[in-house]
Amino acid sequence: MAKNDGWTESASEALRWRPGSPVTDIDTSGKPGFDGDKALGEELLASRGARLSELQELLYANGRSGDHRSVLLVLQGMDTAGKGGIVRHVIGMVDPQGVHTASFGKPTDEELSHDFLWRIHKQTPKGGQIGVFDRSHYEDVLVVRVHDLVPQSVWEPRYDIINSFEEDLASSGTTVIKCAMFVSLDEQKKRLQERLDRPDKYWKYNPADIDERGYWPKYQEAYQAMLDRTSTAGAPWHVIPADRKWFSRLAITELLIEALESLNLDWPPADFDVEHEKARLAEA
Ligand code: ATP
Repeated sequence: MAKNDGWTESASEALRWRPGSPVTDIDTSGKPGFDGDKALGEELLASRGARLSELQELLYANGRSGDHRSVLLVLQGMDTAGKGGIVRHVIGMVDPQGVHTASFGKPTDEELSHDFLWRIHKQTPKGGQIGVFDRSHYEDVLVVRVHDLVPQSVWEPRYDIINSFEEDLASSGTTVIKCAMFVSLDEQKKRLQERLDRPDKYWKYNPADIDERGYWPKYQEAYQAMLDRTSTAGAPWHVIPADRKWFSRLAITELLIEALESLNLDWPPADFDVEHEKARLAEA
C-alpha cells in the first residue's frame, strides 16, 4: 500500500467482523482504519482504481492462460446501502470483459423448486473473472428468516451449508470477499426521500422498502447471526459503514486490491517464440 494514503492499517484488518461484537454497535458513519477526509478518499479512489484495474487485467490474463483462480465479491446490505453504487463506481473502474455480475432478487417459481444454492452455483465466477453478487445466498438467512418464509428448521441449517459451500469455492480457487454494508435508519430515510423527490431516482424507489424499515430490529438479529455464524477463516465478513458513500467505495476497492495482490499474479509467459515472431513481423 502506498504511504500517506490515509490508511492506518489494512482495510481487511480494520473492517473484519469480530464474531460476538454487537451489530447494534456498528458505527454506520465511521471510517475504520482510514484517517483521511472525503477529498482524500475521492482522490484515492481514482488512483487505487487504476491499481485495481491493472490487477484485474492480470487476473484475466492468467485466466486466459488456464489459471483457475477467481475472486467473488459478495455484497449484502439493507435497501439504499449502496450495493448498486459499488457495482457502478468500484467494479465500473475495471474492464467489464473480466467481470461477471449477478443480482439475486425474489426467487422465481423455478428457483424455489430447487435447493437455495441452485441459482447461486450457476453464477459463480470462472477462472480469471471477478464475480460480483448484488445480494446473494445470504438472503436465504436474512429476508427469509425475518419474514418466516420457510420454517426455522429449514433456514437454521443453512449457515453450515453456506460455510461448506464457500469452503468448496475456496478450494476450487475462488477468493470470496464478503461485505455487509450498513446504513443508519436516518441515512436510509434521507436516501428514500431523495428517491421520492427526484424524478431521475423514481426508478430506484420501491414502496416495500418503507415496510422493511419496520423490521429493522429483526434484520439486526438476522445480520448478527449471519456475521457471527458465517465469518470463517477462509471467508470472513467485512462490515462496511455505508453512510458515507465515498468511504464504502474506497474500502471495498482496497479489499479487492488486497485480495488480488495476495494472489501474487504475474503476467503469463508467451506461449510462442517471441524473437521468432518479432523477426516474422519485421518481414511481414
Ligand atoms: P435492490 O433493493 O437490491 O436495489 P430491487 O428493489 O430492484 O433491488 P430486486 O433486485 O428485484 O429488487 O429484488 C430484491 C428483493 O428481493 C429484496 O427485497 C430481497 O430481500 C428479495 N430477495 C432476494 N433473495 C430472496 C430470497 N431468497 N427469498 C426472498 N426474497 C429475496
